[in-house]
Amino acid sequence: MTKIGELLGRGATYSVEFMPPRSDEMLRQLEKTIRELQPLTPSFCSVTYGAGGSTRERTAEAVSYIHHDTPLLAMPHLTCVGQTRDEIEGLVCHYAGDGIENLLALAGDPPKDGPVTGDFRYAVELIELARTVGDFSIGVSAFPEVHPMSPDRDTDRARLADKLAQADFGITQFFWNADHYFRMIDELDAIGCTTPVIPSLFPILNVATAQRFTATNGAEWPSWLQDRFDVVGDDQEDVRRAGVEIACEIGSALLGQGVPGLHIYSMNRSASVQEIWASLGLGSRP
Ligand code: FAD
Repeated sequence: MTKIGELLGRGATYSVEFMPPRSDEMLRQLEKTIRELQPLTPSFCSVTYGAGGSTRERTAEAVSYIHHDTPLLAMPHLTCVGQTRDEIEGLVCHYAGDGIENLLALAGDPPKDGPVTGDFRYAVELIELARTVGDFSIGVSAFPEVHPMSPDRDTDRARLADKLAQADFGITQFFWNADHYFRMIDELDAIGCTTPVIPSLFPILNVATAQRFTATNGAEWPSWLQDRFDVVGDDQEDVRRAGVEIACEIGSALLGQGVPGLHIYSMNRSASVQEIWASLGLGSRP
């Protein structure tokens, strides 16, 4: 029995995020990456979920693989927008029956065109449903630079605090300046919210992809970051190394001021995660 909320009560967690594979080749790549990352003994591994349930089976399969075929602790992401209560309840029951004890409960993005369909709008509704199904430790998202759909900062923080009050922990969207994280924590603290929120690191593998994700999240792409990549040029390995360096700088600033853990986006590749782990000494921390 391992609940992430309880792990966080005992000390910092260091975790890795995977994406569900879309083909047999991607499945083999994911299995290889997981084998390579296993010696790092991450506290838990999460698997993302496609918007509107588009990866329902593939996420569940990847979670089942990690849970049954490796010694690692698996946590599925689950979004609820665009899906029916029966669909979501069925999946949550499946996870409970399979022995999964941790869930990342998300709203997911509404479709870009067309009305929002389905029985859910917000992540809190999914938390309520999951609590009726099983004894899960439930995580939720947090956006240090404010969720792009929030009307203003204060409203974002008030709703985030309400959501964290019903959850066991949070995990942030990635950001390029550690101050964004600490400002959010101070703001949550000021309104009485003390649920642990784990910051995320995104080691860049491709600059255009990172810029696109940053824009989607409504986050800042700072000029110093662009300057770093302007110097690096187009070589993939040079870009990857710069991505690791930058993630280590942000990770080091976070660890230096005290954080409940670090969550690292792997993009299903091991090298950057291994290098960040070694450079920040994650394996050797108490
Ligand atoms: P919510 O917490 O529900 O918030 C969404 C917006 O609604 C916010 O602006 C909030 O302020 C507002 N809101 C909340 N409650 C109310 C209310 N009662 N009334 C009015 N407004 C309200 N997406 C995926 O598709 N798959 C993934 O696997 C995935 N993993 C993620 C992992 C992390 C760590 C993070 C940070 C994000 C992830 N996302 C994922 C993205 C996420 O699904 C989107 O950002 C989505 O737009 C919002 O989901 P949420 O859970 O943050 O929503």
